[in-house]
Amino acid sequence: MNHEENVFYKMIYEVSDYAIIMMDANGTIMNWNVGAQRIKGYASEEVIGSSFKRFYTEKDKTEQKPDQLLATAIHEGSAKDEGWRVKKDGSLFWANVLITAIHGSDGKITGFSKVTRDLTERKNAELAVVEHAKELEKKNKELEQFAYIASHDLQEPLRTITCLNEMLRDTLYEKIDPQTTQMMDYILEATQRMRQLIHGLLDYSRIGKESDLVEVNCAQLINHIKMDLKILIEDTGTYIEFESLPTIWGYELELRQMFTNLITNGIKFRKPGQSPIVRINAKEKNGKWTFSVNDNGIGIPQAFHEKIFVIFQRLHSREVYEGTGIGLAHCHKIAQLHKGDIWVDSKEGEGSTFYFSVDPKKLKSA
Ligand code: ADP
Repeated sequence: MNHEENVFYKMIYEVSDYAIIMMDANGTIMNWNVGAQRIKGYASEEVIGSSFKRFYTEKDKTEQKPDQLLATAIHEGSAKDEGWRVKKDGSLFWANVLITAIHGSDGKITGFSKVTRDLTERKNAELAVVEHAKELEKKNKELEQFAYIASHDLQEPLRTITCLNEMLRDTLYEKIDPQTTQMMDYILEATQRMRQLIHGLLDYSRIGKESDLVEVNCAQLINHIKMDLKILIEDTGTYIEFESLPTIWGYELELRQMFTNLITNGIKFRKPGQSPIVRINAKEKNGKWTFSVNDNGIGIPQAFHEKIFVIFQRLHSREVYEGTGIGLAHCHKIAQLHKGDIWVDSKEGEGSTFYFSVDPKKLKSA
């Protein structure tokens, strides 16, 4: 070895972040550096002269992965791989490996260089994220199930209360004083409201359960919604405007509910004395659609931009703006069902724009 080669090998020997080793044409280890010792735990005299296969798991060895990697390096010049490898103490580390074939002056393979990085921390972080997402999904399913069972079972006692209240009124009709009648009216009102909430919760837990993916013509959908809301639109002098809207893959009933909620909110939360104007638009980017529903209403202070999507969250008393606080929670779930998201851009007193995205590609491949 000449002086320059000597310096070069010394330099490689000292590298501690990477295991850099040379192997002969059969995969026998010929040298060992500080990084290899740190990552794999062996001292050089323990490994030099043995096969590189010793770092592979039993499963990888049975499947002949080490031989396959050498074969790829021979045919393609180099082979890349990521996977679990075994340290001296038997523990595993996640290796990122590059094996490169070395040729002699006659073009024949004389051996291989092998550079390995230990990416265990990154791999474990990735696994933790996947685990966390699975756990969240499980918890969400449990919550949905709970919401369904609770709202379903609450209907029966509520029906009994409503029924008994009506029977009491009929039986006592002429015998009770106006104050008692008023109290009974309050009971009736409260039970009606509770029914609304329970139905809202039940609908929430059902979103996406019984629907099929279809092609939804959004312009047609908005025209149908306009017909459904004809009286509200006329009574409030609302102007609804939309330009070319796409036909997309989605869940029709749910998208109808999404647009209906956003449009009726745009009308409901109008400024006193001003006719509501609701504008609907859609933009496409990389196959993903983002819809916007803009209004000229009272707007939403920045501090509440996330809170409003949580079920039963409202910013006004029922006396000022009637409602249950379920609509936007429905919208949030519908956006998720369409592999998208929902968010709002708004300033108090300056109208609101609700955006939601739909990813038909992800939806079709799910
Ligand atoms: P609800 O309309 O039944 O109150 P939502 O879940 O649809 O329930 O909305 C939650 C809250 O978000 C509303 O009570 C209101 O305070 C606010 N909000 C929703 N849409 C608008 C809008 N277009 N303009 C202003 N505030 C809105």
